[in-house]
Amino acid sequence: MAAQQTDEHKYVYDFSEGNKELKDLLGGKGANLAEMTNLGLPVPPGFTITTEACQAYLATGREPDGLAGQIEAHLEALERAMGKRLGDPQDPLLVSVRSGAKFSMPGMMETVLNVGLNDQSVVGLSVQAGQNDRFAWDSYRRLIQMFGKTVCEVPGEEFEHALDEAKSAKGTHDDLDLDADDLRGLVDAYKKIFAKHTGREFPQQPREQLDLAIRAVFESWNAERAVLYRRQERIPADLGTAVNVVTMVFGNLGPDSGTGVAFTRDPGSGAQGIYGDYLANAQGEDVVAGIRNTVGLQELEQLDKSSYDELLGIMARLEEHYRDLCDIEFTIERGKLWMLQTRVGKRTAAAAFVIAGQLVDEGLIDLDEALHRVNGAQLAQLMFPRFQLDHEFEAVATGIGASPGAASGTVVFTSARAVELAAEGKSVILVRRETNPDDLNGMIAAQGILTSRGGKTSHAAVVARGMGKTCVSGADAIDVNVPAKRFTVAGQTVNEGDVVSIDGTTGKVYLGEVPVMPSEVVQYFEGSLDPEHIDNALVRAVHRIMTHADGKRRLAVRTNADTGADAARARRFGAEGIGLCRTEHMFLGDRRELVERLILARAADEREAALEALLPLQRADFVEIFREMDGLPVTVRLIDPPLHEFLPPLEQLAVNVAVAQERGEDVAKEEALLAAVRRMHEENPMLGLRGVRLGLVIPGLFAMQVRAIVEAAVECAQRGGDPKPEIMVPLVGAVQELETVRAEAEKIIEEVTREKAVEVLIGTMIEVPRAALTAGQIAEAAQFFSFGTNDLTQMGWGFSRDDVEGAFFWRYLELGIFGISPFESIDRDGVGRLVRIAAEEGRAARPGLKLGVCGEHGGDPDSVHFFHEVGLDYVSCSPFRVPVARLEAGRAVVETDGSDSR
Ligand code: PEP
Ligand code: MG
Repeated sequence: MAAQQTDEHKYVYDFSEGNKELKDLLGGKGANLAEMTNLGLPVPPGFTITTEACQAYLATGREPDGLAGQIEAHLEALERAMGKRLGDPQDPLLVSVRSGAKFSMPGMMETVLNVGLNDQSVVGLSVQAGQNDRFAWDSYRRLIQMFGKTVCEVPGEEFEHALDEAKSAKGTHDDLDLDADDLRGLVDAYKKIFAKHTGREFPQQPREQLDLAIRAVFESWNAERAVLYRRQERIPADLGTAVNVVTMVFGNLGPDSGTGVAFTRDPGSGAQGIYGDYLANAQGEDVVAGIRNTVGLQELEQLDKSSYDELLGIMARLEEHYRDLCDIEFTIERGKLWMLQTRVGKRTAAAAFVIAGQLVDEGLIDLDEALHRVNGAQLAQLMFPRFQLDHEFEAVATGIGASPGAASGTVVFTSARAVELAAEGKSVILVRRETNPDDLNGMIAAQGILTSRGGKTSHAAVVARGMGKTCVSGADAIDVNVPAKRFTVAGQTVNEGDVVSIDGTTGKVYLGEVPVMPSEVVQYFEGSLDPEHIDNALVRAVHRIMTHADGKRRLAVRTNADTGADAARARRFGAEGIGLCRTEHMFLGDRRELVERLILARAADEREAALEALLPLQRADFVEIFREMDGLPVTVRLIDPPLHEFLPPLEQLAVNVAVAQERGEDVAKEEALLAAVRRMHEENPMLGLRGVRLGLVIPGLFAMQVRAIVEAAVECAQRGGDPKPEIMVPLVGAVQELETVRAEAEKIIEEVTREKAVEVLIGTMIEVPRAALTAGQIAEAAQFFSFGTNDLTQMGWGFSRDDVEGAFFWRYLELGIFGISPFESIDRDGVGRLVRIAAEEGRAARPGLKLGVCGEHGGDPDSVHFFHEVGLDYVSCSPFRVPVARLEAGRAVVETDGSDSR
């Protein structure tokens, strides 16, 4: 038989044959059991049936050729090693049959324990357990119950019901009060249930039990809950599970037995120490079921010092071997310790940083490895204030977690009210159906923003992220009624003045105040916590890893900022310039009047007067920003959105005019405004008169902005500053557009810098697909490119960035058309390809062309890796994402290049 096996595909591995690298083949559990076996640790002997066998079974509906023989051979070897036989009436070997996929899927698949028991071997088991009849019959009834439910789909409640009946007949609620006779009776009852549902007797042949159990574990890969879990966790559907057949050891043989779980460090905080739970005289499933209360692992020292010491020694050994936090499951059978499982343990974001730092100190890993072991998503989590959800708070609605963080405050429905209450020192939550540029002041004043419409790139979401402000968008269970100053949700009404709490990470909305804690990591980035002088392991670890990331990264990190305050904050967070200063926000508030004059101007002189009035205001804005970013590049984008965004909405205006006319009031101005709004109305404003098109259509608009930028730079330079302005033209699709704007801008630059020389670059956004495809031509006229991946995604996919995420992305995610919104993480194959083409063709036409990205993707971890691979010079993101981008840019070097490249 052995000779035969050498030619056939190997489907079964003894624990001594595998190792921890073979997770694809042996699953996580099997690979780690093999690793521990080879380390000489006490693992109950066994073997693993590979994921390939499972895949073959699932594809064909039958076990692959050779599998049965290989199981037989390994079972025989196991029996020889243990000196016992499966099903032996005198001294039976019992095995567990356990699932174990490559990625942990806790509780999603099946396990059958005590395989090998039957009407004869139950007696032998009792003798071997020291005449312990109760134990033997309890083990047997557990087998019938698990086997019946898992392998033969007998409804679990029937077994539960029979168990309850046995207990009530005995007048007890506790399983432990059932004696051997009760359990023998229960086995009979279970067998009847089994026969009733399956039409056959409970199988007495141990090998048949084993084969059926293995098959059931294979099939559990496709159980509904496993499929759902995989979809949620993005685990590929075709991996299959391995099956581990392991000699049973028993933690329920008396007070000198027990079972437990342990972590080599605290998975919550990363602190060193002994963390775990122990339950004497119990099996693992009892711990999971929570039937009895566990005790802290430390108590094992009193109960069984030698096993405790051995366990601590093994934990230290595993940590050193895996060079990481491990979690462990173990069983003690009559004073003998057995390791049932280990794996690199899951941990919180804080623990990930702390442990990585500690392992460097301990010399187990280097800083590159530490960088690899943390990620930007974890850092981002650590940067937001958190709710202390100690008490039970129930969410009343769940929207899109559009900008993370936790905020509690008084509900307001208008920007003005938000400003008013904030001025009184109140924390407010601005609630709107959706926000628009008019809400900006309210958004600045609010602690958080809640909308019932819109996705992750809606106005509310983008602006809130930019400000680092908590935002839940698209909470469509909420019905917002702004005029009535209330919203309704889940049958309750929330009025202005009531308090709500929103979690921008989970998208959850709570009524009432949930307490909030600030982030120490932000305090560190802000400079108010000095890592060298405080006793805070997390802050020290973050500092150390960030410093290493900065030393490694090749991508520079800039910020998207429109105000001096944002620029200053981003600089403290490590921004190396501004990659996008959107100028449209500077046209709002008390300047709206001037913008209206500009739009309504009938003659050139009226328009020029409006522009002239705007010029000094814009100049002052830029002076402030250049000052905050002194010595670093500042990319200022000329105005981008359609101008009607600066006018009141059509419906509102029409109503106002009608009402005023009715009253006989003078409505000449409103009528003019209404006519302008009608004239400028567009069916598809995102594809209409915006960006460079505005500059080409409205004389003097771009010229005014260019003049304001250059005059501000000259003013700063004259005062001894070192401004580095870069003028950026939005929405360019053809080189001729850029050339026209550039010719005009150069004249102004030439004129203004005569006073004082300042270098001013002129470049363009690449955000229209045509621009990406003609990048070679466009580069002739551009000194830099900045990829506007928001619009590039919108136009590349033809997805309206304001609507689609809330409207139908759920279906696309469900169908797996994409795993994550392309507005959140760059679509490498499509939109990413446009970026790649433009980068290559742009640089071919103009060697050294500076390339950056300023769409939302600039702060997304996976996208940062992509931009590193494509070879951009910088990413630009909102101030709060700057540390995340720094970290990921460093990780990209370690992971993509595997070596130093700075
Ligand atoms: C973009 O389109 O990616 C971009 C940065 O510009 P905006 O979001 O202002 O359209
Ligand atoms: Mg854009």
